[in-house]
Amino acid sequence: MAIRKLLRNRRFQKLFSRRIRDRLDPRERREVVIDVAGACNLRCPSCPVGSIGYDGKTPGLMDPALFARLIDKANEEFRVKGVNLFNWGELMLHPQLPALIRMVKERGLRCILSSNLNLLRDPDAVVGARPDALRVSLSGFSQAIYRQTHARGDIERVKRNMRELSAALGRVDPPLPLRRGRDPVVEVYFHKYRHNLHEVEPMRALATELGFSFKPVWAYYMPLEKALALAEGELPAEERAFVERQFALPIAEAIDSAREYRSDPCGLLEGQIVLDLEGNLVPCCTIYDMQAHTLGSYLDLSVADQRRAKRDLAVCQRCTAHGLHKYFTYSRDARLAPRYEELVARNLARRGPLAPAAAPPASETAPPASETALPAPGAPPPA
Ligand code: SF4
Ligand code: SF4
Repeated sequence: MAIRKLLRNRRFQKLFSRRIRDRLDPRERREVVIDVAGACNLRCPSCPVGSIGYDGKTPGLMDPALFARLIDKANEEFRVKGVNLFNWGELMLHPQLPALIRMVKERGLRCILSSNLNLLRDPDAVVGARPDALRVSLSGFSQAIYRQTHARGDIERVKRNMRELSAALGRVDPPLPLRRGRDPVVEVYFHKYRHNLHEVEPMRALATELGFSFKPVWAYYMPLEKALALAEGELPAEERAFVERQFALPIAEAIDSAREYRSDPCGLLEGQIVLDLEGNLVPCCTIYDMQAHTLGSYLDLSVADQRRAKRDLAVCQRCTAHGLHKYFTYSRDARLAPRYEELVARNLARRGPLAPAAAPPASETAPPASETALPAPGAPPPA
């Protein structure tokens, strides 16, 4: 108990680095994942928001008072590695985002953000709240390419917001420390598909010019529900054709490779605390339909209850039967990561890049106003 009190002491936190504090902390490590907005302004076809819609999710915004109680409980029970303010929602939709970031930072925790950056209300306030990492997630440099996999998005608006973010970073005083001790706080995360490979370098150049780091990654198919349907041969033919056409990583083959390691334990089940807008616990971040998989209200679950609730879950048995837990985390696996690189190289050699598609219908170019004007935090979801 005394050691926990010491670890929470602000003076102690200032004097000793996180690494030293972690060594002293006997508690289990957890990554907290909280959706602070129950909606997204875009409709990416490779994301459940675009391909499933909002079934199983609660629209609305995280209530800051509830948010504080949730992170306090997690921080009391576990050694919190970081708090991610996103899962399936767009965090910039939350008008009190800077306050939420500050709540995390005031508790001495790492705060991680990820956004499509089509919306940026107040860059100085966001940066001034001093998040540890902000990922800008995108998939193109020109609108013709970007809109194919970020439907309803506007890459020119994203670029303008990137410039504003960069300017705000230049104004923040004192400057934000580097992420992981060496990388800039803002990281541009470029999802590579068959149709956008020629736009990686122009975006890299812009990211570098703005002082951001740049990480190109092979896009992969989410969420668990869709990957399961693919693995079990139940994906509708049209969607299966989309997956086969668009992804550079051949998804069915990637799952076949992951299946070889299906008996490995799942790091997400034990390593994460994933919470929906109402503070309900779900097994992991790969599940989209949180209501169908809720394990109960996090505030009411003791550590032992959480362990019990996560034991022998039917959804985990289905997932691990296909090795999907390994597929979702392949980049952390020294055996699968190089295997997936080989799969991509073979697929691209066989089929080459994909020509840009025709212009999108008007309905894909802008979100309806109802999706950018969400109810106030804590408000009941619309009927
Ligand atoms: S921007 Fe992100 S959350 Fe929104 S639809 Fe696209 S991938 Fe999904
Ligand atoms: S086994 Fe699958 S469903 Fe269960 S926690 Fe792991 S990734 Fe999620």
